[in-house]
Amino acid sequence: MTNIELLEYAKKARENAQVDLSGFKVGAALLLKSGEVICGCNIEDPSGIGITNVCAERCAIIKALSEGQRDFDKIAVVGGADKLIFCPPCGACRQYLQSWCPDIKIILSDNETIKEYSIKDLLPHSFNEEF
Ligand code: ZN
Repeated sequence: MTNIELLEYAKKARENAQVDLSGFKVGAALLLKSGEVICGCNIEDPSGIGITNVCAERCAIIKALSEGQRDFDKIAVVGGADKLIFCPPCGACRQYLQSWCPDIKIILSDNETIKEYSIKDLLPHSFNEEF
């Protein structure tokens, strides 16, 4: 699957974001090595308690893990309020990606340009299984 195709899944997932508080919608599409795509979106807690919010990336990874999937190829992430901007994973998601899928490729796009990163690019010197 091409990065452009995977980004389309992420854009579709973004439509389901629950973001009444911020209006900042994020979608993620996680490509498994089997070819299956598992999507996620950000979900804000209506109470406004930030720690209970769930990011799109972790939503997709948790869905995959809960289905017994562990072999990840790449994840596409798109986000923005009115228009798409580059939306790199937050710190918590970077650690989650490092912990569960350290070899994954991370695909970002602002709808014009596509950038690809490894988790080592985004979270150098991370806490990992070596510790
Ligand atoms: Zn996050």
